[in-house]
Amino acid sequence: MLASTSEVYGDPLVHPQKEDYWGNVNPIGPRGVYDEAKRFAEAITMAYQRTHGVQTRIVRIFNTFGPRMRQEDGRVVPNFIAQALRGENLTVFGDGSQTRSFCYVTDLVEGILRLLRSDHPTPVNVGNPHEMTVLQFAKLIIELTGTRSGIAYKPLPVDDPKVRQPDITLARRVLGGWEPVVPVEEGLRRTIEYFRGKLA
Ligand code: UDP
Repeated sequence: MLASTSEVYGDPLVHPQKEDYWGNVNPIGPRGVYDEAKRFAEAITMAYQRTHGVQTRIVRIFNTFGPRMRQEDGRVVPNFIAQALRGENLTVFGDGSQTRSFCYVTDLVEGILRLLRSDHPTPVNVGNPHEMTVLQFAKLIIELTGTRSGIAYKPLPVDDPKVRQPDITLARRVLGGWEPVVPVEEGLRRTIEYFRGKLA
């Protein structure tokens, strides 16, 4: 089982992303090492399957969140929640119009386990298609935490994907009707409680 990523689609020109889209990755940009490493990992996994008959599975994991994320890992969910709980402004990169689709961790794990038990040999997207802009996401965290924090706009990182949303048609079909069952707001409430405990 290879834990791959939606980053294989780069800054996608096809939306939402289906598994047969080859992606739009800048090989020499600051994200290039991660993206190309994951793309190479998929390539070598498929080569072992075809050439050596190894039984392999590839899951393309989209943005996931939940309790036990590291507070300082730099990703948007721990950043926004920790900032909100500390009463600091939430750092929105760019104008916040870029989109992401966030999946609660238990839904991801269930999708991965089902893929392991399946016989599907090519990559499968696992994520939650519920898409929102980063600005909407910041406002949602402000609302759910009840903070008096505002928003601080910061420069957009180079090659930050403008949109991202999984097409999970294939996952539904080959993973026995799998789909996310935890609404994003419910997942965020649980995650905020976890961070409250950590910061206390
Ligand atoms: N982001 C943001 N503020 C932050 C951290 C991230 O606005 O403090 C944005 C980032 O530019 C991106 C989105 O949130 O558009 C998701 O970023 P993350 O690093 O969590 O994941 P990825 O870019 O790999 O989807």
